[in-house]
Amino acid sequence: MRQASRRAMKPVWTYVMVECACGKQSSIRIDQYNRRNQTWACRSCAFAGRTNHRKGTGVKNDPDKLACRNSYYKAKQRVKINHKNAYGSVEFRFESFEQWFAELGPRPEGMTVDRIDPMGHYEPGNVRWATAQEQARNRNPKYTWTTKP
Ligand SMILES: [Zn+2]
Repeated sequence: MRQASRRAMKPVWTYVMVECACGKQSSIRIDQYNRRNQTWACRSCAFAGRTNHRKGTGVKNDPDKLACRNSYYKAKQRVKINHKNAYGSVEFRFESFEQWFAELGPRPEGMTVDRIDPMGHYEPGNVRWATAQEQARNRNPKYTWTTKP
């Protein structure tokens, strides 16, 4: 019963199919359509005329950098939260993503960041891209991690 009444509360909108000048069709809510004086441009056309919008200039729009940046933040986070108690004596010594990217370059498909010396820090000279298999081989025997006193 409750479910039925809740469903009845849900506003019902009318959607209209609109066609942009470029031929792309999209369905939008009719009140939005009316608000725009019955004209509509699809997203790509709406942005097409702008030369100075930020899209394409940032790290987010660079697929190479994006994968690398995710690794940067993940590594940083692992150290910060001392993931699996394995990072107690490890420091994150990169000062910026730019420094990180200069060191590692774009991330190859399926690879993750590995520390060359597993007891070393995340710092220039001690990081590389490695496959999971390579990392397992490089890892010290289990349970030899030292933790912070
Ligand atoms: Zn369009």
